[in-house]
Amino acid sequence: MAKGLLKHQERQAALNLLGKDLARRASSKCELCEAAGVPLNIWEVAPVPEEPDFEHCLMTCDICGEQLSLFERKPAKMNVDHWRCLGKSVWSQVPAAQVMSVRVLRQISGQYPWAAEILEHVFLEPETESWAQKIE
Ligand SMILES: [Zn+2]
Repeated sequence: MAKGLLKHQERQAALNLLGKDLARRASSKCELCEAAGVPLNIWEVAPVPEEPDFEHCLMTCDICGEQLSLFERKPAKMNVDHWRCLGKSVWSQVPAAQVMSVRVLRQISGQYPWAAEILEHVFLEPETESWAQKIE
């Protein structure tokens, strides 16, 4: 088996161990758009620690997961309308949700005034802010 694949599977297994606690934290809803009754996946918020870490994980629905991958690889292809949900998640009690929300909103705020408007009212704890700025 390829070494990279084995590594990936090990990580997946370690992440799955966090799944139950994450689902509880998220009340089984997407932590970005609050979709309920849909399959949820674990999204690791960069910079990703060596070992999977509860605080660095988000529970996201398939749509948010897909949009987050686009955000990291091809932001121009994002369905920006879906991200209106970030107006709420940016106030989440979960720092990882705040970090991803702010990163995406900052990316699109130049083009979308509604995103800039949300950001005007957002205040992040200093630690959360420095995390939001740390992109690998
Ligand atoms: Zn979602």
